[in-house]
Amino acid sequence: MANLPILQFEEKIVETVEKNSVVVIIGETGSGKSTQLSQILHRHGYTKSGVIAITQPRRVAAVSVARRVAQELDVPLGEDVGYAIRFEDRTTSKTRIKYLTDGVLLRESLSNPMLDDYSVIILDEAHERSLNTDILLGLVKRLVRIRASNFKVLITSATLDGEKVSEFFSGCPVLNVPGKLYPVEILYSKERPVSYIESSLKVAIDIHVREPEGDILIFMTGQDDIEKLVSRLEEKVRSLAEGSCMDAIIYPLHGSLPPEMQVRVFSPPPPNCRRFIVSTNIAETSLTVDGVVYVIDSGYVKQRQYNPSSGMFSLDVIQISKVQANQRAGRAGRTRPGKCYRLYPLAVYRDDFLDATIPEIQRTSLAGSVLYLKSLDLPDIDILKFDFLDAPSSESLEDALKQLYFIDAIDENGAITRIGRTMSDLPLEPSLSRTLIEANETGCLSQALTVVAMLSAETTLLPARSKPSEKKRKHDDDSNLPNGSGYGDHIQLLQIFESWDRTNYDPVWCKENGMQVRGMVFVKDVRRQLCQIMQKISKG
Ligand code: ADP
Repeated sequence: MANLPILQFEEKIVETVEKNSVVVIIGETGSGKSTQLSQILHRHGYTKSGVIAITQPRRVAAVSVARRVAQELDVPLGEDVGYAIRFEDRTTSKTRIKYLTDGVLLRESLSNPMLDDYSVIILDEAHERSLNTDILLGLVKRLVRIRASNFKVLITSATLDGEKVSEFFSGCPVLNVPGKLYPVEILYSKERPVSYIESSLKVAIDIHVREPEGDILIFMTGQDDIEKLVSRLEEKVRSLAEGSCMDAIIYPLHGSLPPEMQVRVFSPPPPNCRRFIVSTNIAETSLTVDGVVYVIDSGYVKQRQYNPSSGMFSLDVIQISKVQANQRAGRAGRTRPGKCYRLYPLAVYRDDFLDATIPEIQRTSLAGSVLYLKSLDLPDIDILKFDFLDAPSSESLEDALKQLYFIDAIDENGAITRIGRTMSDLPLEPSLSRTLIEANETGCLSQALTVVAMLSAETTLLPARSKPSEKKRKHDDDSNLPNGSGYGDHIQLLQIFESWDRTNYDPVWCKENGMQVRGMVFVKDVRRQLCQIMQKISKG
């Protein structure tokens, strides 16, 4: 920690923050922005007048970084240092440094529009350009104008165009924290492979057998492929003659892993041992794994897309952008010169990849965000003229208004309705909030709560593809997440939960039926929280 690049800039950072309300900090991934900035400001007294909030676009990053900072400060997690993610608040009135997802901060501003518990708001990982961070950029710009001068905003990013953000904030200073990146040799495949799993396997084993020590980071698109590759790697490594190469440890890394399995990648490996980390793009900029010297890049990422003509979301595997490809390659050069094996030809990188990732605001449904902005009730905010870093198209704003009108959240003049206000009390997508309100009227709230809670738990509870006994093949703890595509329909979700409910929440039932105990317990908790909100709404 002592040699993280950002710490050499401590004086400069504090001096600049002292003199300015808004500061942009650009630093290579792993330079220490997420873990150190909050501590630097804490050391210089910024937690005396309020809490330091640090937003993260991903839940896993909020939890993992809070954990790390608590460890560094040697305090229990959830007290001086805590985190808040949707449906899970680990903070107390004692908390001074609070990591939270950008979505949770947006919700907090509904009940406290001035966000005056916070002396500092750090919008971290702004390069991810999540929809919520983009909206927060507009909101904090307004807050800086109306809150007294002791309120500070920091915007950090690994790759973002600092000048553009600086212009957005009336020419605020941009600090660059140069990271020490070693050269990375880029090797391209001649053609795209037929199977990414097999091709990654071959390249990884070649590296393991031929190349000097150094960990291997492999970018796959999702949990399913990660698990397949992990199991293929385990087989292959076992079959290599003993003593012919160093030992190997293979770790999966994705957002649905239990936190204790996610943090395993942060502990240094035993000597003479090579680690294989098979990850989604959370290792691209969100989580930094030290010791990586070789990167294998499939060139793909899984992204939630929205189709305005059908009004439906889908999870699609799409090509990454050049910026992402270069971030991935950069992961190999943090400890010494490294190598990046791109499983695609140079021509594909050069001609097919977009230069930069399209910000979420330009590719998603804005219904939730528009409803949020309407429920803020701020006289000086006009949705169609909201101050965005990159404005969404007028079509997508109109599409959002149409959707909201369709579900009675706004009236024909675009004003928020009583139902719309009730919907904004629920931390859910508008369509799910509307479902609960309607279910409450028609007498099937209990069932609707279950389905919505099951949908909100996403991948942490997916039914196993295989029978539990077959699943045992890999690890013998239950942390080997079951994995399956193709949910049944909502009725099936309801039946699963109700069957578990009838066993009085028996963990053995989950195991026997290929469900994650942790995921099901989470669903039960989400259901309880949503039920409480609905009770309040019914009374109110
Ligand atoms: P940045 O935000 O600039 O990408 P971070 O502050 O996230 O940088 O990371 C700085 C260092 O802290 C990295 O070496 C990373 O491996 C380490 N680190 C981050 N989170 C954890 C954690 N939960 N446990 C252990 N080490 C961590």
